[in-house]
Amino acid sequence: MSHVFPRHCHAQMPTAVGGDGCYLIDSSGKRYFDASGGAAVSCLGHSNDRVRQAIKDQVDRLAFAHTGFFTSEPAEALADLLIANAPEGIERVYFVSGGSEAVEAAIKLARQYFLEIGQPERRHLVARRQSYHGNTLGALAAGGNAWRRRQFDPLLISVSHIAPCYEYAERAEGESLLDYGQRAANELEAEILRLGPETVMAFIAEPVVGATLGAVPAVEGYFARIREICDKYGVLLILDEVMCGMGRTGHLFACMGEGVRPDIVTIAKGLGAGYQPIGAMLCSGTIYDAIAGGSGFFQHGHTYIGHPVATAAGLAVIREMLEHDLPARVRALASPMERQLHKVLGQHPNVGDIRGRGLFWGVELVADRESKAPFDPALGLAGKIKKAAMARGLICYPMPGTRDGRNGDHVLLAPPFVMAEDD
Ligand code: PLP
Repeated sequence: MSHVFPRHCHAQMPTAVGGDGCYLIDSSGKRYFDASGGAAVSCLGHSNDRVRQAIKDQVDRLAFAHTGFFTSEPAEALADLLIANAPEGIERVYFVSGGSEAVEAAIKLARQYFLEIGQPERRHLVARRQSYHGNTLGALAAGGNAWRRRQFDPLLISVSHIAPCYEYAERAEGESLLDYGQRAANELEAEILRLGPETVMAFIAEPVVGATLGAVPAVEGYFARIREICDKYGVLLILDEVMCGMGRTGHLFACMGEGVRPDIVTIAKGLGAGYQPIGAMLCSGTIYDAIAGGSGFFQHGHTYIGHPVATAAGLAVIREMLEHDLPARVRALASPMERQLHKVLGQHPNVGDIRGRGLFWGVELVADRESKAPFDPALGLAGKIKKAAMARGLICYPMPGTRDGRNGDHVLLAPPFVMAEDD
């Protein structure tokens, strides 16, 4: 009997023992093509020499030095590299160990920023329905996924949720894409006015929605209007790029491809590419200066922030990505991927929509194409697809709908950037 406490207590999982390029290998020797990088993590595949060597070298030199006492060379170098390639105005990097921690740090920084500049009444966070920002209590409260939140609702801070920008399900008949995008974005303004503009601190959204909707980009004009509304009311814009960032959509930061400038941006998954647990929260110079020139202390922190081995791995990942211009490769592979998905799945009676960016694609499954009605959640379709795919040696990332009847099951594909076109 295993003593591991697994997520699914009754699932029989194979034991992973090896990684080879785009493949994972289990203890029976079976190979699985990793078409989702786990959950959009393994962007460099599973055996990148440079990243493995960087980790070994760093462990040999220095494994750990607490950031309450020291900074470290890899953390400094990685921060410099990220900022040199970051969206306009983003000037500081706060390293953490994963996506949820990055979102927690972002929420707390937004709150502390307004305290530092003498606006203590700003405390409300606005997010979107059908979103996921992590599983710790603050990040879970920001997320709008009813199914994930349900058991913990009494423990969660109050967060407002507006509609996501989800054209396939929410655009009205005859409504232009542009009009739809403006209507969806204007929900933010209505919510800010309802709460009282002087009480709202931040709006958080994923530039391309990953886990809850399945690689759904916003329509043109949506984020420009969101930025305008945030600026009008002095509300910070937090972009959560934990899943869609770090080259996944064909740009190091997804917001650069979507044409929107954040005040705070969170990254994780692709930053460590699975080689080390690492995430980061990046913020504007304006926010950093308010803290530095105010209390001089960000009231937040974890033991493993800025871990030397994790940041050494992140540094090697980003160097690899930039030196080989992998975001350009991702952009080049986007069309063949889209074409092939449409060719193989486009006519299937239960495929409602195929959408994505770069190497980040979602296939939405519906019981009925005409009405777009989702399958009954009781069918457990996502779990069955995962099992059937694994039996055939394929790792993809099927997710159930959010169970509020608004969206159905989908399958997320997020293959390594190093895959061949034939893959
Ligand atoms: N934010 C987004 C957009 C995510 O997709 C995820 C994880 O899937 C998280 C935050 C949480 O990241 P982690 O699982 O590393 O805590």
